[in-house]
Amino acid sequence: MVVKKSHLLFLTCSLFMIVAQTACVKKQASEIIIETNFDRGSLGPTRVINDSLVKAQTIHWIKKDMVGNQFYWFYFKISNVKGKKIRFELNNMAGTYRGKPHRIMTGICKPVISYDNNNWDRIFDTHFDAESKIFTFRHTFEEDQAWIAYAHPYPKSRGDDLIKELQSMNADIEVIGQSNEGNNIHMLTFPPKAKYSSDKKVVLVMALQHASEDCGGYFAEGMIEAIQESQNYSDKFIYKIIPMMNPDGLYFGVSRYNYNMEDLNSEWDDDLTDEKNLPVEPEVLAVKNWQKDWNEEGGKIDLWVDIHSHSQKAGDCAIIFGDEQLHLLAEKINNYWPIRTNFRRPGSRSGGGGSTPDSSTDTMNTLKLTMELSQSHNGDGVFLNIDDYKLHGKYFVKTIDEFFSEKSR
Ligand SMILES: [Zn+2]
Repeated sequence: MVVKKSHLLFLTCSLFMIVAQTACVKKQASEIIIETNFDRGSLGPTRVINDSLVKAQTIHWIKKDMVGNQFYWFYFKISNVKGKKIRFELNNMAGTYRGKPHRIMTGICKPVISYDNNNWDRIFDTHFDAESKIFTFRHTFEEDQAWIAYAHPYPKSRGDDLIKELQSMNADIEVIGQSNEGNNIHMLTFPPKAKYSSDKKVVLVMALQHASEDCGGYFAEGMIEAIQESQNYSDKFIYKIIPMMNPDGLYFGVSRYNYNMEDLNSEWDDDLTDEKNLPVEPEVLAVKNWQKDWNEEGGKIDLWVDIHSHSQKAGDCAIIFGDEQLHLLAEKINNYWPIRTNFRRPGSRSGGGGSTPDSSTDTMNTLKLTMELSQSHNGDGVFLNIDDYKLHGKYFVKTIDEFFSEKSR
C-alpha cells in the first residue's frame, strides 16, 4: 500500500487533535472550582487568578436601616486543588457595627479547613492588613477538594438533625413560631412537660440569634447533653432551650443578621407599640409571645441566657455580660473551663449586652446574661474545635447548678 502524503497529513492532524483534546480535558480537570451553593455557604465575587492565587470578597450584608453592615462570614468548597499552594485574598473585610468600624478580622483570625466538611483544622498562615483591610491566608492542599470557613460552621441542617434526634428520644419539643422564611423556631423543655413550679429555677437559653457566631450552636448542644446526662437536675431546674433562633441567616450564609437583614439582638426592645421599629422580626416575636403566655400563667424566668460569640477579635476569651450578681457565675465557670471568662456589666463595652432580651416585658426580676464565647483561641494560643465548644456548654450547666446552690444558701 502506498502511503500518500495526504494520508500522513491526516494521521498527523488526527494525532495532534487527540493530544490537544487530552491536554484540554486535563486542563479543565485541573481548574480550581469554588462553590457556595449549599447550606451556610457564602462568598461574594470571586476570581481564580491562577493556580496559586484566588481573589474574592465576602458578601456584604447591609442592614435594613443602612447603618450597619457585616462582611466577615465565608464558607466555600474548593475543588481540583491537591498539591497546590494557594493564596487567598479577601478584600474589604471591615464592616460597620452601630455606626463604628467593625474590624472583626484581625491577626488572630485563623480560618478552618476540612477535607470531609466534618473534621476541621485551622489555617495558621494568615495576615490581616489593617490599612487595606485585606485578609490573606495560604494553604497547601493535601486532597483534591476541601471546605474552608471563617470559623466552624453550624449549618441549619445540623440544627434540624438535632431536633430529629431529640424527637426520636421523645423529648419535649414545641414549635413557638416561624422565621421570615417559614422555618420553625423550636423550644425544648427539660424535664419534658414540666409545668412552672416556684421551687424550681427556670433557665431560658437562646442560641444562634446571630449567624456567624456559629459556635453557639455547639455550645447549646453541649448544654443539652449535660442536662440529659444529669441525674438530678429535674429536682431543681426547668430548662427552656431555643437552640436555633436564626435558621434563615444560617442557611443563607449571612453574617450576623436574619435573612430580612435585621439584627435580631436589636429587636427585643420593640414593644409592639414602637412604630419606629415595627414590625418585630418573627423569630423574636415567637419568644416574646411565649414569654407573655408563660408570665400570664404565673411562670417566671430566673435566668435568661443569650449565647453569642465575639468571633475572633483579639484580647478577649469568653465574656459574661449581665447583672452584677452574675459575676459569681463567671468566676465559677473558670473552675472548669481553661478559657478565662471575664465579667462585665451590660453596656460597659460595645459588642455585648447592648440590648437585653426581656427589656420590654416584666419577667419578675430575671437575671439576664449574654454569654460571649470564643470561637478562636483559649488565651494560651490553643485553638478551639467543635468538641471544645460543646464541652464549654456542658461545664456551663454544671456552673449554673452551683451558682443557684450557692445563692440559695
Ligand atoms: Zn452576637
